[in-house]
Amino acid sequence: MKIGIIGTGYVGLVQGVVFANFGFPVLCMDKDEAKIHKLSRGIPPIHESGLQEMLSKNLEKNRLVFTNDIRKLTKESDVIFICVGTPSKEDGSVDLQYVLDVARSIGENINHYKVIVNKSTVPIGTAQQVESIILDSMEKNNNNFEFDVVSNPEFLREGNAIFDSINPDRIVIGSNSEKAMKIMGDIYSVFKINKTPIIFTKRETAEMIKYASNAFLAVKISFINEMALLSEKVGADIQEIAIGMGMDGRISPKFLHAGPGYGGSCFPKDTKAIVDMGKKYNEEMYVIDAAIRANEKQKVKVTQKIINLLKDNKDNKIVTIWGLSFKPGTDDARDAPSLDIIKELIHNNYHINAYCPMGIDDAQKSLDKYNKNITYFDDEYSAAVDSSAIVLVTEWNQFRGFDAESLRDKLYGDLFIDLRNAVFKRKNELERYFKYYGIGVK
Ligand code: NAD
Repeated sequence: MKIGIIGTGYVGLVQGVVFANFGFPVLCMDKDEAKIHKLSRGIPPIHESGLQEMLSKNLEKNRLVFTNDIRKLTKESDVIFICVGTPSKEDGSVDLQYVLDVARSIGENINHYKVIVNKSTVPIGTAQQVESIILDSMEKNNNNFEFDVVSNPEFLREGNAIFDSINPDRIVIGSNSEKAMKIMGDIYSVFKINKTPIIFTKRETAEMIKYASNAFLAVKISFINEMALLSEKVGADIQEIAIGMGMDGRISPKFLHAGPGYGGSCFPKDTKAIVDMGKKYNEEMYVIDAAIRANEKQKVKVTQKIINLLKDNKDNKIVTIWGLSFKPGTDDARDAPSLDIIKELIHNNYHINAYCPMGIDDAQKSLDKYNKNITYFDDEYSAAVDSSAIVLVTEWNQFRGFDAESLRDKLYGDLFIDLRNAVFKRKNELERYFKYYGIGVK
């Protein structure tokens, strides 16, 4: 069984490497030539823990091959995973052009029975649409081969992507073909050593499970953030509230961490997508829509808080940002809250000293036009020099154990604004050096 992967981003590359590591021959394709060039030489274009080692090992064993050629990939693969991006359009709907382009190419080049797997997050009905496009494209090219389109959404978390791919909580397979279900079940049977449950269902249900899961998590984050805003006003402590809530087995403590709002390449676009789908089917998604608005509000509120706290320091306009990636453990800064916060601070005439262990390159892409307003540093202490405040935006572990005294010596001002409550436990100690402010706590 030869596996083909189209799109070698966070999802496709990790999935391809993990399949190869389970012993499957894997052919990975991307239209980005620079990426393929790097990958063929064993250099991962993204950071994920354990990826480098697994990539090198499987390249060496010749189980993993990279190509730019979609014809080669289509012809040589038995099961093809579509893992290309599905970004948002301006109106919040999903831009399916990359998925549909791939479907067209598959139809042009198909040469025997294949299972085509939608792993990208796609609106409900896309498996059907991909099937129609392949049929249409086969007809135009005088091709006539059997194939099945399956929905197999991905749930990995960036920063833990290799671990999550090997140990998923569940595997969801949506199909209307017994034959394809059997093939997919056989492929994923290797994961069963970890007792992973597999859900076999309809394609529409599989597609919806992905959106429903991401939307639910986004709602949970927006919920705790709203509680944090109110807690600050009424003098309650969101840290203890989250613990008290999380002890209820029906709620669980996960995703109850107050912060500057959710970001990343999935939650913002997937919540918008489901609201858009609701509109199309005349079923308004009130709860998810409110979560999106609460998230926007959260970013504005935390930025206003920073600006208000900075008002006492009129003669210094430098602010230090710790953490640019949308979460720790990844170099991905797509839609990160840090970007909105930085832009707003710049609009309020602040200069930004920024440091992130891995997110600088990606953040720079989105902050390109603000280059003269931002200085990037190689470590968290240099970024603090002559600044009014430290704003901890992303809770990288290395920001937890800093030396308070040397940090204070570098700063001009004395503000430490912890948008993740990452060092809240050190509050008493930190207050000897700084004015410390967390989120939803006094
Ligand atoms: P990504 O942007 O990191 O990677 C997508 C890749 O597809 C890029 O390398 C791009 O060059 C390539 N590509 C685009 N069009 C192509 C084409 N026609 N032929 C070949 N390659 C093409 O995206 P990602 O983060 O890996 O996400 C991929 C999909 O998986 C999205 O639908 C996303 O919503 C979903 N998803 C992402 C995550 C995550 O944490 N990143 C988790 C679960 C699901």
